[in-house]
Amino acid sequence: MNKWNFYTTNEIKPEGWLRRQLEIQAEGLSGNLHKIWPDIRDSAWIGGKRDGWERVPYWLDGFIPLAYLLENEEMIGITKKYIDAIIAAQDTDGWICPCKKEERKKYDTWAVQLICKVLKVYYDCSGDERIPDVIYRVMKNYYEMLKSGEITLFGWGKFRWFESFISINFLYEKYGEEWIKDLARIIKNQGFDYATTNYKWIKPSHVWQMNTHIVNMTMMLKSEAVSHSILGEKYTDRAERFRAFLDKYNGTCFEGFTGDEVLSGLDPTKGTELCAVVEQMYSYEEIFAHTGDNKWAERLEVLAFNALPATLSEDMWTHQYVQQVNQIACQKTMIMAPWSTNGPYANNFGLEPNFGCCTANFNQGWPKFALSSFMHNGNTIISAVTVPSVLKTEDVTIRLETDYPFNNKLHYSIDSEKDFDFVVRIPSFAKELKVNGAATETWDLSFSIKSGKTEIEIDFSAEPVLKERPNNLYVMQMGSLLFSVPVAYEKKMREYTRKGVERKFPYCDYQFIPTSSWNYGFADNGFEVDYRSSGKIPFSQDNPPVTIKAKMQKINWGLKFPYKSICRTTPESTEPVAEAEEIDLCPYGCARLRMTEMPLLKK
Ligand SMILES: [Zn+2]
Repeated sequence: MNKWNFYTTNEIKPEGWLRRQLEIQAEGLSGNLHKIWPDIRDSAWIGGKRDGWERVPYWLDGFIPLAYLLENEEMIGITKKYIDAIIAAQDTDGWICPCKKEERKKYDTWAVQLICKVLKVYYDCSGDERIPDVIYRVMKNYYEMLKSGEITLFGWGKFRWFESFISINFLYEKYGEEWIKDLARIIKNQGFDYATTNYKWIKPSHVWQMNTHIVNMTMMLKSEAVSHSILGEKYTDRAERFRAFLDKYNGTCFEGFTGDEVLSGLDPTKGTELCAVVEQMYSYEEIFAHTGDNKWAERLEVLAFNALPATLSEDMWTHQYVQQVNQIACQKTMIMAPWSTNGPYANNFGLEPNFGCCTANFNQGWPKFALSSFMHNGNTIISAVTVPSVLKTEDVTIRLETDYPFNNKLHYSIDSEKDFDFVVRIPSFAKELKVNGAATETWDLSFSIKSGKTEIEIDFSAEPVLKERPNNLYVMQMGSLLFSVPVAYEKKMREYTRKGVERKFPYCDYQFIPTSSWNYGFADNGFEVDYRSSGKIPFSQDNPPVTIKAKMQKINWGLKFPYKSICRTTPESTEPVAEAEEIDLCPYGCARLRMTEMPLLKK
């Protein structure tokens, strides 16, 4: 297997639907959070009184690459303002977080790990020569404090220890000093070993705990990939064993897991936190880069094209804390909330409908995904995630024109001043693969590109298939896209201020109340695909880029007692109560209200 290296925002620029998606993000909450949200606007990181821990780093982790990918000068200026203030506040001993010297022992150093990762992102984007030394001094100080026992890992820092390896690997590559390896060992030794408690993933605990926390679960999958090399350990694909085990007991059709906030089993009405979606994407990006194993890129696509857009409003001003696979309404739930540990508004769209972590953390999703389009190793370049984008290095330009995943045509225009090897990752679901019009038998596409201009046209087909899910339910999948019955809805807006945080249009809270039927099953398994093309809003419910006509039939599905806005896990009966009707299923990512896992009525 090949290890792949990321390009930077100077070399990759998104195009087509992906660029429109990033522009929507910049015009939405991501690009405005520093103006409206006190935890970013008045953060202790920049001398204010609000949150001085994870929120500013979380936001910057997405805002910085977003600004540079779009070459948005105003946003780039804002990133510099924040980074300058953070660097200016660094203590002479290297400590960088906004907490007094006497409070360091009690400060959860998850924020130390996170800010160093963000500083590296900023360095990759800006090339700011101050940054390596800033990270060096933070980590050297962290090393001395951990080694002497002045501080120890606890809380989130203990459960997310591997996150520090992003900057540890960077430092070791740049400076090659022995203490960096020693720091790596200390952090791993003090960090939590998830293998010791994975029996807890089998049954939902319904009790809040760190070792079944959904975001920790999705983050820790990358731990071996990012740490084994500097620790001198053999890579064993532990991520695959952990993933398979989590999937067996908590898997969702979008390659994620249920967790609200703790692992929640196989019920398609249980929620998945937004932080978990973007962290799982980031984990798979890192695992793919470190191992070159295509299965991770393939799963990354399913998360990115389904779970991510589904849980963000079309204008990207609001988001849900948890999304459901079968989501018939986003309304305040009466009586006690149906979630394990979340509140009654957790599936509503808003500024921070449950906790505020996702408000700060969701920003990294699309920008980092865009940075996974092309990767390299030596004289080989791979088109890893085949989304529309252009790669421009010193001597090679590759433009990929495509509407993938909404269709399966890839057009590469290459202009190169040197010879190089070019690999295109073809997904395993692809059928009838053709290169420049000629059918091919191999899915391992590798081209020896000569200097000059080269055009490569690739197309393949993807078949709609009904995939079996737990609970005798089925999901329609075509390639990387899942399809749902879209449920029409009416938006109910709620503006208010609580604890000094204003919710005002367009970042107010919204309830989505269903206005069309959702109680369906698949009447048979014949389908008709209608390829359109992506519009101004790529994941639009009114204007989906591709649909599948399916025969669906109403059944007596029923509500989950005692809720009025949540359907039962499985239908009360699978006897049709009406004639079959043709319904245009739309991509899961387009349908903010939807039914996705449904029974097959005639087998
Ligand atoms: Zn969150």
